[in-house]
Amino acid sequence: MKLLVTGGAGYVGSACSARLVEAGHEVVVVDDLSTGHADAVPDGCRLVQADVADVASALLGEGFDGVLHFAAKSLVGESMQDPTKYWYGNVLTTLRLLDAMREHGTPRLVFSSTAAVYGEPDEVPIPESAPTHPTNTYGATKLAVDHMITSYAAAHDLAAVSLRYFNVAGAYGRFGERHATETHLIPIVLQVATGHRDQVQIYGDDWPTEDGTCIRDYIHVTDLADAHLLAVESATPGRHAIYNLGNGTGFSVRQVIEACREATGHEIPAQVAPRRAGDPAVLVASSDQARTELGWKPERPDIATIVRDAWTFTQSR
Ligand code: UDP
Repeated sequence: MKLLVTGGAGYVGSACSARLVEAGHEVVVVDDLSTGHADAVPDGCRLVQADVADVASALLGEGFDGVLHFAAKSLVGESMQDPTKYWYGNVLTTLRLLDAMREHGTPRLVFSSTAAVYGEPDEVPIPESAPTHPTNTYGATKLAVDHMITSYAAAHDLAAVSLRYFNVAGAYGRFGERHATETHLIPIVLQVATGHRDQVQIYGDDWPTEDGTCIRDYIHVTDLADAHLLAVESATPGRHAIYNLGNGTGFSVRQVIEACREATGHEIPAQVAPRRAGDPAVLVASSDQARTELGWKPERPDIATIVRDAWTFTQSR
């Protein structure tokens, strides 16, 4: 297939582009490089450096079999302080993209949605049927896009899949996490091991969990890339399928720090700090639907493997 990948210079977008190329698909990346890196675009992909909203129509006019839409604003804290950036960047841009797809009859879409659409969950593991009550603007914009996609699939026969990621981590070879503003736990802990930070702060140790720290479902970016490949290949016209992607197992902040100590051999000092606003205590996915319908199975569920691959990537930089 000839596929347009928006945000293909970012962490998840570049890893997925590499996986698509490896599977024999032709990939064109569109990315404004606001947070991505030109050198992260895999070999064999054409890079168009532009804002998706500006070029979607012209590009899709070339004729594509599908779009994988990763380009987005994705910092939770920033989304609360500057909502305009998120409603424009995530919702309006995707509306322009969907309209360009309708205009040119592009048949398939795979969208990067998020566990943040669920907010504070009533039940864990979280199934796709759980109520959606996002607690931040980032999650609200992703949920709005999911609703838009449902309408377009029904009205225009679009074959669409939204993948709701839990905590993506690890690296796929040379495709790993390198954000200018790092907020995610594993890269922050590894920055202590490389000497770029003195210690890690644990955001609260009085949560209702076994060791008192928050529990998250960490999923290896390579497993995530496999799910995108299956999603684009199996999308069905007129249907908007939604799948949670996680391992179904949670690890606490303390367990993650311990895994990083083992992987790096560094003592990694940690200090308990106040809770971070908007953090739920436990987020773990039920990915049963992705397993049954997509035939997807995470091959690297172990936190030691996830951290080891992230560490190998970090050391290579
Ligand atoms: N966390 C932490 N210290 C940090 C960064 C994160 O204790 O410096 C915690 C955070 O409160 C959450 C977990 O680690 O419970 C994962 O946070 P991250 O930002 O990586 O992902 P999120 O779950 O917010 O998407």
